[in-house]
Amino acid sequence: MPRRRPGALRAERGTYEGRRPPAWTRPLPPVDRLPPAAAAAAHWARPGRADEIADLLSRYRNFLRRPGGTLLLSPSPCPGCPGCARDDIAVVRDALADLQRTLPPVARTALGCLLRDLDAQFLRRTLPDPDPPAGRWADRQGRPRAWWHRRLHEDT
Ligand SMILES: [Zn+2]
Repeated sequence: MPRRRPGALRAERGTYEGRRPPAWTRPLPPVDRLPPAAAAAAHWARPGRADEIADLLSRYRNFLRRPGGTLLLSPSPCPGCPGCARDDIAVVRDALADLQRTLPPVARTALGCLLRDLDAQFLRRTLPDPDPPAGRWADRQGRPRAWWHRRLHEDT
């Protein structure tokens, strides 16, 4: 790529000097560690979606950041209410999968990269459940549940 002339750069920098730049030039808020184009795509068309993804990713990271070796999953003490349901990390991972499907391709791919890395850590830090109860194979409507539900849980 040819180097840009210093004059051109100076001119660009000076464009909004001393004035507030128009709204469209302001960057959108970052979304966790998504690259800027993917973050912008996550913000696009669905207000609140990007914030929700950032919140879910930080819950997933916090779970993986817990000290000690093996991590056990714990069901939410109050699974019926939307806020408390996400105390269960498997529910958080479900929500990320659901949101990922709604994203434009660039953001879907970028979120997929982050999730691959986090899922690898999740697999390393958790153990397979040798005998999961029926509810971890399928939900109440009979829809199959993802693999992250069948990791070892705290004794309940
Ligand atoms: Zn609750």
